[in-house]
Amino acid sequence: MARLVMKFGGTSVANIERIQNVARHVKREVDAGHEVAVVVSAMAGKTNELVAWCTEASPMHDAREYDAVVASGEQVTSGLLAIALQALGIQARSWQGWQLPIRTSDAHASARIVDIDGGEIIKRFEDRKEVAVIAGFQGINPETGRITTLGRGGSDTSAVAIAAALKADRCDIYTDVDGVYTTDPRVVPKARRLDKVAFEEMLELASQGAKVLQVRSVELGMVYNVPIFVRSSFDKPEDIDPHGTPPGTLICSEEKIMENHVVTGIAFSKDEAQISVRRIEDKPGVAASIFGPLADANINVDMIVQNVSEDGKTTDLTFTVPAADFARAKQTITSAQDKIGYARFDSETDVAKVSVIGSGMRSHAGVAAQAFAALAARNINIRAITTSEIKFSVLIDAAYTELAVRTLHTLYGLDQV
Ligand code: ADP
Ligand code: ASP
Ligand code: MG
Repeated sequence: MARLVMKFGGTSVANIERIQNVARHVKREVDAGHEVAVVVSAMAGKTNELVAWCTEASPMHDAREYDAVVASGEQVTSGLLAIALQALGIQARSWQGWQLPIRTSDAHASARIVDIDGGEIIKRFEDRKEVAVIAGFQGINPETGRITTLGRGGSDTSAVAIAAALKADRCDIYTDVDGVYTTDPRVVPKARRLDKVAFEEMLELASQGAKVLQVRSVELGMVYNVPIFVRSSFDKPEDIDPHGTPPGTLICSEEKIMENHVVTGIAFSKDEAQISVRRIEDKPGVAASIFGPLADANINVDMIVQNVSEDGKTTDLTFTVPAADFARAKQTITSAQDKIGYARFDSETDVAKVSVIGSGMRSHAGVAAQAFAALAARNINIRAITTSEIKFSVLIDAAYTELAVRTLHTLYGLDQV
């Protein structure tokens, strides 16, 4: 007998028929003798609709009320799945974040889980073999008593955090693809499924745009050593061999991975904006005068390039921020123009970041240089570059994203044969 957390994403619970399919997946594990907690997302498209309603009601809305609205999508699916399970003769009940409770910080719309009380769920596993169906994405701030949400894609994080709190043997993430691929299989049909990915690599893939797992869920998996298995919810529950290993990808520690490729995968993100602050006086403290206020405004700056301005005397600073924060970043910098002392503010929002990830880069030189040559051969201009131990990223015009990803995928031998 094992203790399992099973998480189902939006497309897996998109309508009643799919929720009934999910119920059969859960029944399969219950019948095999396992203790099961299920975490569900809202129906596909629901959260987008709820977010749009908040913006329509008022573009500058209260984040606490935003959370009250957007958390409702998961309330619906958790109740519906409990009903579908009961219809199959399985003892089940739904739990909202505040009922467990799942305690979080008060950073509304991007709250962090502080702790989870899993006591009642474990008691019910033992007393009556009850399946817990938990609304993903949401929690409660204990000081204010208000509902919070964990940021988009946050149900993955709910699932891994619950797996850690319940000391589950595994956290299965059921989604609309059958694992983690070398890059988004919807963009590159030649992408290959990976059997295993190290936590560190998955962290980079997720934070550079592979939305198959929310970044924070991978962090929690790494810290609490929760094995995460990404698999498809579209396989028919009846066709799955209860003793076999289903197709999927295990996210685990690096020691468990035997074959080490130099490059494991490629991620990309179009949610970037480039800012250039031009002709700044080149003296100590100017970087701090720009990046300090951005940090105070909670805006994450990613790639940074500094070069000499056209006049040869002053300096230009170019950097990227998340597209969603662009308007605030622009406001922050332009309102401090006199203090910073610069001549021009330029920006470009039609840009994309393509990132190449692989722990083999630690020990191989020249991996990035190959990419620069291959992109140049395709006439793709690189606007900025960043590197870290197991990753490098290039910023390019968004129109070339797919071409760049496919070019690099082939270059590093990732194409399916
Ligand atoms: P869910 O609703 O189940 O949480 P998401 O849409 O959040 O599902 O994540 C699954 C999607 O992630 C896939 O449909 C796929 O398009 C995308 N994706 C991006 N990069 C990858 C990758 N490297 N491997 C697998 N899927 C990826
Ligand atoms: N429903 C939420 C979202 O769409 C959380 C999730 O699906 O993980 O972002
Ligand atoms: Mg998701």
